[in-house]
Amino acid sequence: MSQSCSIQKCVRTSRGLCDCCQQNLCLQHLNEHNSLLITQLNPLTDEINTLEDRLKTLNIQNTISNSRRKLEEWRKDCYKKIDSIFEQKCQELDQLIEENIRQQREELNRVHLKISELINAQETTRQDIDSLTSTIRQLETNMNNIEQTCFTINTRPLIIDETFILIKKTTKSELDLSTLSLVYKTIVCPEGSFVSLTCNVRYLLIHQAPNLCLVDREMKIVKQTLWSYGTIWDMCWSSTLDRFIVLERNNIYLINENTMSIDNAYATQERRWLSCTCSDTVLFTSTNTYGSSIMEFRLLPAIELIREWKYSLTCSRDEGINDIVFNNGNLALMVMNDSKKSLRMELRYATTFDCIWALQLDI
Ligand SMILES: [Zn+2]
Ligand SMILES: [Zn+2]
Repeated sequence: MSQSCSIQKCVRTSRGLCDCCQQNLCLQHLNEHNSLLITQLNPLTDEINTLEDRLKTLNIQNTISNSRRKLEEWRKDCYKKIDSIFEQKCQELDQLIEENIRQQREELNRVHLKISELINAQETTRQDIDSLTSTIRQLETNMNNIEQTCFTINTRPLIIDETFILIKKTTKSELDLSTLSLVYKTIVCPEGSFVSLTCNVRYLLIHQAPNLCLVDREMKIVKQTLWSYGTIWDMCWSSTLDRFIVLERNNIYLINENTMSIDNAYATQERRWLSCTCSDTVLFTSTNTYGSSIMEFRLLPAIELIREWKYSLTCSRDEGINDIVFNNGNLALMVMNDSKKSLRMELRYATTFDCIWALQLDI
């Protein structure tokens, strides 16, 4: 017995199973469904054309220029280090020989003068002659030594590890915390240690009560100094000053990584500090109050307050700025709202404080 078309109210006999809807349809409805399918081809063509155009006009230079700039910076930095060692060793070489030459020249002048004096006076003794002869023999030996000076230069080739630069492809908006490497080593902090930490290219700066410590890439403490001041609220590194900046309740300290000396660079009783960050030219600090201000300091020639950014430009009256980080002309802020008990992250232009984006965090 023949089956009828599955379309409601259609009384025609079904002529086949339709490919698009898996129903038994009559010839007319099969045709209708077929035409409908064909009309869907055109938009697909449009889409593929759009994708082809996008690929054609893709600017690879834009895609890689930022990363390329980073590689360039690494290269320049390495060259600078090599140039600096080279200059230092050249000076060392000059100094090694120049000191001998200077002494020889002075001694020659002295003896020459002495002989001239004796000739002018037309008066000398056997003892003078013997003494001068012996001095001249010594100068001759010295001269031979200077002429025969040579240096042995032992050099080791610079071994550059491939892993100095690792390139990983990511999607722009993606922040994948699972790509973090595994824990390499753990440093246990004794009770009473402050939680702030920061780093430069060489060291990590941490507080291990009662000391401030520099930790190297192998996670070994290489230098430490007693921290005899108050609570540390935040730290950052300034390449311009070549110093670590440590924020205490009312003071801003500079730490010299070579000598581990601690200098008070700015003291105030009117403000309590909470967090800090640096650009090449300025230091930003946030104040530990609701309705936080952000203070802007000049770094050179000395740390000097140049501007105060107040609420409501920085945040609302019931909000505090817990953390700030400067990068690429912008400031990232972690803002805590006291009434709503909520936390949000913001990115703002460092020069105007205009907000670029804000992200409410569910924590
Ligand atoms: Zn169909
Ligand atoms: Zn039908």
